[in-house]
Amino acid sequence: MSFADDSYSFCRHYEYETRSEQWQSICQKPAPPTPASPRASSSDSDGGAPTTSTRLTDADINFQRVSVSGEDTSGVPLEDLERASTLLIEALKLRSHYMEISDQSFPTTTARFLKTVRLKDRYDNLPVRTVSEIIRKQSMVSFTDMHPTSSLKAPHAWDVEFVPDESYIIKPVNGVFHIYKDEALTSELNFTYPDMSQFVNDMQVMCNMIADGPLKSFCYRRLCYLSSKYQMHVLLNELRELAAQKAVPHRDFYNTRKVDTHIHAASCMNQKHLLRFIKKTLKNNASEVVTHTNGQPMTLAQVFQSMNLTTYDLTVDMLDVHADRNNSRLREVFLKTDNYLNGKYFAQIIKEVAFDLEESKYQNAELRLSIYGKSPDEWNKLAKWAIDNNVYSSNIRWLIQIPRLFDIFKSNKMMTSFQQIIDNIFLPLFEATNKPSENPNLHRFLTYVIGFDSVDDESKPENPLFDNDVPRPEEWTYEENPPYAYYIYYMYANMTVLNKFRQMRGLNTFVLRPHCGEAGPVQHLVCGYLMAENISHGLLLRKVPVLQYLYYLTQIGIAMSPLSNNSLFLNYHRNPLPEYLARGLIISLSTDDPLQFHFTKEPLMEEYSIAAQVWKLSSCDMCELARNSVIMSGFSHNIKQQWLGPNYFEDGISGNDITRTNVPEIRVAYRYETLLDELSNIFNVNQKCHVKENE
Ligand SMILES: [Zn+2]
Repeated sequence: MSFADDSYSFCRHYEYETRSEQWQSICQKPAPPTPASPRASSSDSDGGAPTTSTRLTDADINFQRVSVSGEDTSGVPLEDLERASTLLIEALKLRSHYMEISDQSFPTTTARFLKTVRLKDRYDNLPVRTVSEIIRKQSMVSFTDMHPTSSLKAPHAWDVEFVPDESYIIKPVNGVFHIYKDEALTSELNFTYPDMSQFVNDMQVMCNMIADGPLKSFCYRRLCYLSSKYQMHVLLNELRELAAQKAVPHRDFYNTRKVDTHIHAASCMNQKHLLRFIKKTLKNNASEVVTHTNGQPMTLAQVFQSMNLTTYDLTVDMLDVHADRNNSRLREVFLKTDNYLNGKYFAQIIKEVAFDLEESKYQNAELRLSIYGKSPDEWNKLAKWAIDNNVYSSNIRWLIQIPRLFDIFKSNKMMTSFQQIIDNIFLPLFEATNKPSENPNLHRFLTYVIGFDSVDDESKPENPLFDNDVPRPEEWTYEENPPYAYYIYYMYANMTVLNKFRQMRGLNTFVLRPHCGEAGPVQHLVCGYLMAENISHGLLLRKVPVLQYLYYLTQIGIAMSPLSNNSLFLNYHRNPLPEYLARGLIISLSTDDPLQFHFTKEPLMEEYSIAAQVWKLSSCDMCELARNSVIMSGFSHNIKQQWLGPNYFEDGISGNDITRTNVPEIRVAYRYETLLDELSNIFNVNQKCHVKENE
């Protein structure tokens, strides 16, 4: 069988082109931007970029390319290379399968390579869908997409379109919701998802793979090669990259869009901000009843009396003690959406944070709000909180964080089985999708929710036993907390069905973006690899070369927060961020928890600033990080087009618009060509193996 499919031969052919270009490039200056008609769509000063009439390809970009010549460039025996290639392709197929059926994205370049592989197994019938195809589909649905440029003001933001109600019956089967057309449950909407036994199987395949000696050393070598290649690239092209940035009028690091891709709503303000807010509230609303203690109403003034505090006493140091996670009435009054005041103060302070973001214009945040799965009305309360208090900003999107607290609920006798958590979290979402008019607040609120996060301390010991005999959620009645993989699997499986259902109804879909690989077992990162569109932290990838290489090949976004890691798990100077960035993993910088870790009004800039100083990041690196943060964020397709350029989802330089991103074409071309080379290495060998087999 021939492998010389068009898309495949494209990149080999392309590679030869770039090599001949290399010689010309040495003595040429970067081409001046071609003057052309202004871009039709963008009206503000922000995106008035000139369009070139003939589109450049990556090969047209002049810079000094680092290349290795010779037949076999991997540095391991051919046998090992063939084996590694087979295993890695297997792993790539797995992820593309999991992303495909859950409507999450997979990078176009890698998908193109995968298409060339003969698909003999269960993926046979599934086309590999790419980022751009998914994006095109998404862009048609949500209301916000239609108004990307206008800064939607809060009351109007909630005027979303309502689709007519349906009367499907929604019932869980082994922990995953199914949708039936009739009461008798005889005919159902056939939305497939990997069942538990298949998932357990795939986990085992992946776990064996990451422990495989020869594969480990292959991946380790490739990662080292990627680091060295990048050092060479910087050595040879640093000045050109800088010159390209300087040549762009108006744009600099400050006015490129950046998204804080990992930040918790309850700690999105810094200590000083919270303190000022508390003082102000105590001054103006001292007599407001804010809580009930032992059946007695308590005013704000009484709360402070009970703690022996006056406004004068309030300092940041004292907040540290009193706003502590566990023992705080202040936290209850000021940082909860569901309290005696229905989260009034919390809404006000979030709006102040949002106001600061809007003022800065170029900073955005994906705030995490909690749904615990304690009771079925949590979703409606949360949606009501957002809408009643008009907590909306065009600079903010919501992620829902689900803490892994089953053991606590169980020991407090709040529930009997794990199935109850699943019911409380997912049933309201299915119902709001089925009958929007009966759940109007939730339907509106969900328009601005982009996905789910799973949170808790990953270093807590967990039962590693995870096989086909694992009890189903209704049978999980133990005191013990289910393992990480169990939580993630049921979130993923239910989200997959929910996404199909919402897509069928013409509504926005969700993605999975858990905390993953901050500490604890490396199996968490395998779960992330299979099921999450992108992850937060990923620190432990530094210890698992196979997974790190796979995260690179599949360009999985990783939101890293080195300042937060520095306090909790890993010294700043040992953080793997600079190494990951050098190798070409998709990294973004995020704050995690400004209330604990940051001092200024612009925590995200603080994070960038410290990273830049400590690791000597160039302005090109910073802009690349900012661009990554927008790409991996959940902002809509149209907004991303406005921020990054109309073709941002395309590969290589055709997806970059330096007038908006300030990332030089040289950097983008380098990243793209490097990824193509790595993929060609792997897929080429595979092709040769098959040819041999057929002879
Ligand atoms: Zn976090």
